[in-house]
Amino acid sequence: MNLKPYAAHPEFSKGRQHIEAVSPLRNEFQRDRDRIIHSTSFRRLQYKTQVFVSHEGDMFRNRLTHSLEVAQVSRGIARTLGCHEDLAEAIALSHDLGHTPFGHAGQDALNLCMKRYGGFEHNLQSLRVVDTLEARYANFLGLNLTFETREGILKHCSRKNALQLGELGHRFLEKNQPSMEAQIVNLADEIAYCHHDLDDGFRSKILNLPSLRELPLFNQCYEYVMRKHQNIKDEQVMNESIRRMMHLIISDLCEVSQEKITAAKPNTVDEVRQNMPLIGFSKEISSEIQLIKKFSRERLYGHSKIVEMSNQAQVVIDKLFAFFKRNPSKLPADFCAQSSDTLERKIADYIAGMTDRFAIELAKKC
Ligand code: MG
Repeated sequence: MNLKPYAAHPEFSKGRQHIEAVSPLRNEFQRDRDRIIHSTSFRRLQYKTQVFVSHEGDMFRNRLTHSLEVAQVSRGIARTLGCHEDLAEAIALSHDLGHTPFGHAGQDALNLCMKRYGGFEHNLQSLRVVDTLEARYANFLGLNLTFETREGILKHCSRKNALQLGELGHRFLEKNQPSMEAQIVNLADEIAYCHHDLDDGFRSKILNLPSLRELPLFNQCYEYVMRKHQNIKDEQVMNESIRRMMHLIISDLCEVSQEKITAAKPNTVDEVRQNMPLIGFSKEISSEIQLIKKFSRERLYGHSKIVEMSNQAQVVIDKLFAFFKRNPSKLPADFCAQSSDTLERKIADYIAGMTDRFAIELAKKC
């Protein structure tokens, strides 16, 4: 690994909450990544919605494949910029661990149920999963990840919550940045979902090539593909266009970020933290990404088929929350034993951990 001075170094990590012996085989960020991959919450991502409910079709993304795609994009960018690939990978694989079943519809529904009890936020929940909810080790709850991975997981945080998070919350109070690796994953997440949601929209036939061509950047890539290839199937045109679009966006990010890094000359991770954001897109690509997001909101997430699924998700989550509130003894005993929180928080933790199918089946019995 060709690390630059501003990359995070496992040897200079701010450490774990519970002190552990150093591994002779793996660096601390590799250990984090391995702990995440072996966790229960990670496996459950396979059956959680990204945009389409997980059993609607086998070819759509779910939270697991989304996380793998974010990890792939993150690693590539980290390598290009001389950052620590293992840390970027660990953050990417864990960034969505706190997601509820049914994607954003599930999170909104659970947040509404929790309105009077401190709310529910999937990003904060991802940290909660790795800090307390996983029970894999005898000496502590959670996965006991390094500060750097936890810092990367927590992308945003209210002042109120930041005050309760100790050193991890400082940057939100002081308006500092996280490590370069965390900044990379944050934008790799956007890059991944912008592209794969369009792709899933196309596969589901909600979107088609003429509608996608309304997006200027997509159209530019589409025309490039059509100039180079004749007589190829629509599916190939779509895949080549998406591939080209991703290439353009990632290249732009690497180029622009490299310029920012060269200008700021950070020598340590702490200098990265005290700087302006150093990972970013050009103005042109930023506005293209905004157009893609707007397009996806209106044409895909706002499509009647997806909205109908969101409404069903809300019914399921509401039903489960009300049921466990009336019947707290029905929460699994070992699950309750892990937490000294309020009943509502325990219910939220339990529901957030469910897969789409489990939640639907359980709601039928409530
Ligand atoms: Mg994500």
